[in-house]
Amino acid sequence: MADTQVGVLSCSGEEFLGGTIVRLATRKVMEELRTDKVVTLCLPLYIAGGDEEREFAKTYPVIAVDGCSKSCARIATLKYSGEVRDTIVLSDLFGEDVVLSNIVSARDLKPEHYEMVDKVAVEICKKMDAILAE
Ligand code: SF4
Repeated sequence: MADTQVGVLSCSGEEFLGGTIVRLATRKVMEELRTDKVVTLCLPLYIAGGDEEREFAKTYPVIAVDGCSKSCARIATLKYSGEVRDTIVLSDLFGEDVVLSNIVSARDLKPEHYEMVDKVAVEICKKMDAILAE
C-alpha cells in the first residue's frame, strides 16, 4: 500500500468559518502531515469539470470534508463520481452555530480557529491512515 493515495475533497464555502477551516486543514494535511499521500481537487472545478475530474472518486478512495451539514463535498462526490469512503462534517465536531459563524477569510482567523484547523487536520489523518491500513 506504500504508493496508495487518498482523495480528500473539501468543500469550498467561503462565506462561513467552516469552509475556511476545512480548506486550511486539507492544505495542512497535504503540505505538512501526509505529503505525497493526498490527492485533492478544488470543489468548483470538480463540479464544473470534465471526465478527468469525474474519475476522481473512481480512482482514489475519497474522504469528503464539509464545513457544515449541507455537506456539499459529499453530495458532489456521490453525484459525479460515486463512492465516498468516509466523511468529516465540521458541525459534528464544533456545532453548526460555530461553523456557520460569519468569519470569512483566513486573514480574520484567531488562535482558537487555528486550533480548529489542527483538530480537523488530525481527524483527516486518522481517517486516511485507516484507509491506507486496509
Ligand atoms: S458544506 Fe456548508 S460551508 Fe461547505 S460549501 Fe456547503 S454550505 Fe458552504
